[in-house]
Amino acid sequence: MKTVHHWIGGKSVQGTSGTTGPVTDPATGAVTTRVDFAGADEVDTAVAAAKSAYATWGTSSLAQRTTILFRFRALLDAHRDEIAELITAEHGKVHSDALGEVARGLEVVDLACGITTQLKGELSTEVSSRVDVAGIRQSLGVVAGITPFNFPAMVPMWMFPPAIACGNTFVLKPSEKDPSASVRVAELLTEAGLPDGVFNVLHGDKVAVDRLLEHPDVAAVSFVGSTPIARHIHTTASANGKRVQALGGAKNHMLVLPDADLDAAADAAVSAAYGSAGERCMAISAVVAVGATGDTLVAKIKERAEKITIGPGNDPSSEMGPLITKAHRDKVASYVTGAAAQGSEVVLDGTGFTVEGYEDGHWIGLSLLDRVPTDSDAYRDEIFGPVLVVLRAETYEEGLAIINASPFGNGTAIFTRDGGAARRFQLEVEAGMVGVNVPIPVPVGYHSFGGWKDSLFGDHHIYGNDGVHFYTRGKVVTTRWPDPADSPAGVDLGFPS
Ligand code: NAD
Repeated sequence: MKTVHHWIGGKSVQGTSGTTGPVTDPATGAVTTRVDFAGADEVDTAVAAAKSAYATWGTSSLAQRTTILFRFRALLDAHRDEIAELITAEHGKVHSDALGEVARGLEVVDLACGITTQLKGELSTEVSSRVDVAGIRQSLGVVAGITPFNFPAMVPMWMFPPAIACGNTFVLKPSEKDPSASVRVAELLTEAGLPDGVFNVLHGDKVAVDRLLEHPDVAAVSFVGSTPIARHIHTTASANGKRVQALGGAKNHMLVLPDADLDAAADAAVSAAYGSAGERCMAISAVVAVGATGDTLVAKIKERAEKITIGPGNDPSSEMGPLITKAHRDKVASYVTGAAAQGSEVVLDGTGFTVEGYEDGHWIGLSLLDRVPTDSDAYRDEIFGPVLVVLRAETYEEGLAIINASPFGNGTAIFTRDGGAARRFQLEVEAGMVGVNVPIPVPVGYHSFGGWKDSLFGDHHIYGNDGVHFYTRGKVVTTRWPDPADSPAGVDLGFPS
């Protein structure tokens, strides 16, 4: 059986802790691969490699960095299909969706290729007689990224391209459930000419993560994953003096006003709720239907959901694949089986679904729950599966209040033809990313991605300008070059003004 090893100092390094974890093909349920789990000493080795590489990478020219990033961009582009296949084999999502995540990651590589513009400093001349002030931004050193299973290529690329473009060196701890894409990306970076040790991949679980969080040579930690772990990462890394951005879970609402194009809204709800089997942090998991058109909307969503083809991700006819693990499948199913007892109307129940010839895969069909009470488990929890809940509201204000009462605030969307209502919503809703007639408003690479409330801990969103800010620290230089003709200023104990 194949074993996925760490990538340290520019080469594949076999684990020494004696611990490995299983990697499963979600379509068959079979363990296809083992992955090394790092112990604390292996974390120390990876951080030491990154620290040693920083000595030269931190002072490398912008031209050198961007040349390598442009080469990496071309290699990534050429290997899109291969990376998407690795993702499908370990995550289960359909190939077209896996290609989409590579494309969205590539967008952030594009941003990093243009780091020369992002890192231009500020200069004020003649702030006082012969005094200039310059603001510059410098790299931090060794930075770490800890990423979730649901975007094994894209989420690491939210982090490392801007980080290394800014002059940092990187240690990535990808999800142990689908580790192969990260290693392939590391190989491509090396092929692009990235010096050894600038980008390292360390596999593992809590043991590896917790050592990174306390390691004195790690300056900053980027995390994307579930809210409880994001909170732990933020608290622990902050207590250890590190800069932290920790992006958490979500329950993204779509508010549908009675004047919306209901066909477009139903298309968007089905695409955004069930795409990638609902395992997206920006999935629409709750629709708030305002007014009397709610029944029509639910009927239109049901009609579309019933037509979705579910099957192995490598079958081109599949629109939705399996869930990541058997345990997660069973947990998702429990929200549907328990829904009626907690007051929901079960419109579609996908729990009995399986695929012929793939009976051991982690399958579940599409579920749709209507009139879901806000105190029920299916509403309160992030289910992270193909389960869409619908809530009803009489007015815009009532719908907005439901959304703003959620502890999460990642993404949200409004569907309406009323520009005034859409404008109010943009300003009044408590979420970090808002779509107007756009169901999954993931910002393009040159804006920043991030939620509010329990969806993000820390001050910086990820990639875009915030990403560059996160991976650099500011310095302000005040300069005076006296003219030889000036008379000496003399001693003055007053505060400089
Ligand atoms: P997870 O929180 O279980 O794992 C994320 C990472 O943390 C993994 O690398 C994992 O190995 C590590 N980890 C897990 N338990 C840990 C522990 N106790 N201590 C230290 N490290 C630990 O998340 P997941 O199941 O891989 O991913 C799904 C979650 O990620 C969902 O909640 C989803 O909403 C969220 N997510 C959020 C965003 C966002 O941008 N806000 C994006 C993608 C995914």
